[in-house]
Amino acid sequence: MIAKYEEDLKRIASDVWEHPEPGFCEYESSRIQTEYLRSQGFEVTENVADTRTGYIAKFGSGHPVIALLGEFDALYGLGQVADCAEYKPNGEAMGHGCGHHLLGTGCIGAGLLLRDYLKETGRSGTVLVCGCPAEESGSGKAYMARDGVFKDVDIALAWHPSVYNQVDTGSSQSCIQCYFRFHGVASHAAGSPEKGRSALDAVELMDVGVNYLREHMESTDRVHYAITNAGGMSPNVVQAEAEVKYLIRSTTNAKCSRLYQRVINIAKGAALMTDTTLEVVFDEGLSNTIPNFVLEEVVTAAFKECGLPEYTEEELAYAQKFKDTYPDTTTYDQLADYILDKRGLLADIKNNPICRILVENRPSDLCSMGSTDVGDVSWVVPTQSLNTACYSYGAGAHSWQWVAEGKSSIAMKGMYKAAEVLAAAAVKLYEDPEIIKKAKEEFDMRTDGQPYECLIPADVKPHVIGEE
Ligand SMILES: [Zn+2]
Repeated sequence: MIAKYEEDLKRIASDVWEHPEPGFCEYESSRIQTEYLRSQGFEVTENVADTRTGYIAKFGSGHPVIALLGEFDALYGLGQVADCAEYKPNGEAMGHGCGHHLLGTGCIGAGLLLRDYLKETGRSGTVLVCGCPAEESGSGKAYMARDGVFKDVDIALAWHPSVYNQVDTGSSQSCIQCYFRFHGVASHAAGSPEKGRSALDAVELMDVGVNYLREHMESTDRVHYAITNAGGMSPNVVQAEAEVKYLIRSTTNAKCSRLYQRVINIAKGAALMTDTTLEVVFDEGLSNTIPNFVLEEVVTAAFKECGLPEYTEEELAYAQKFKDTYPDTTTYDQLADYILDKRGLLADIKNNPICRILVENRPSDLCSMGSTDVGDVSWVVPTQSLNTACYSYGAGAHSWQWVAEGKSSIAMKGMYKAAEVLAAAAVKLYEDPEIIKKAKEEFDMRTDGQPYECLIPADVKPHVIGEE
């Protein structure tokens, strides 16, 4: 089925890999994908939710409406020569270190299979290939969810390139990212220190305060910071301006909002201590992911039906070269308890350069550390995600190894497989509305009447990192 589209998909993914672009600036990537989708009979809406590069490509009519959540943004600092098994920057400021060139293109592959299915069967149903921008930084899907882009969708399906073949289970963290900007008064640090009010002191005191907070927050909360303006290079000038960027995470939106308020209080305390003023500038916010066991089961069954990719000796040797650059030190106790056969997975990691098994889970509510904007979609519509092995064992996401392997045949095979599994799962949903009903019942049970409240305030619009 997917074979007839493989050349097209490989060309698109390679083209996006060669044009790595930051969140909300994926103009070339978006153009490559939307032009192709139009040529394939999809009706394309661009600039959805004022995201500039976000698009929705629609085929079919009526319900069920199934959305496929694609991405295409890249990461700074990761330009790397393709297929080279040693760190060798290629002169690009950015690189596809999270495989989003595959991610968006794999959704197009699934979209083509579902277009063919809807055409051939004449069934009622719509497929939406969603080009969601700025996953790495920017919260693209959160703006799309906030603007109602998914309001008529019945089920959302997603995938991510990975080192494992695995259907997601559990949740992910909510997070809020913001800037704390302190304003003081400059003066000569030796001659007239009494006239100065140090914004840098406020940043330092805030960070100390937050480090004391750590003992009194939940063990699954996370708070990280980066000093984004230390006030200049001159110790003999009292620093009048300083800024620290915080990323605050917890397991639910409500808990994350409460933790955020505690951090704001500490910042206010630092401003009071230093006689400076405080400005809080909101940057990003992501919701936790609502699991859906009904959909996990459907997608797992689809994955089993589709089977796993086969590899040639050359491909295995290629993967081994990369595995050797980052010896895997995974131990039994580091594997999540929801993995059904931890021993089997460890043996696979030890014996193969790339995942040769489907890693099965028992359905779990466990919240993994880290956040994704898929969480916001999962608050609006029952959502399920899967992973396929596109990279060798060893290095993880956001590594030069992932950039280097990004255009390889193993990466492409993982992408083709994802397209097949997503399409197979969607076909099950088109054919059995009862499953959709059950998935919605589970969604209602889990959200328990709480409306989706996007963590991003209404006046904050999609913006490029560093802009406001
Ligand atoms: Zn990613």
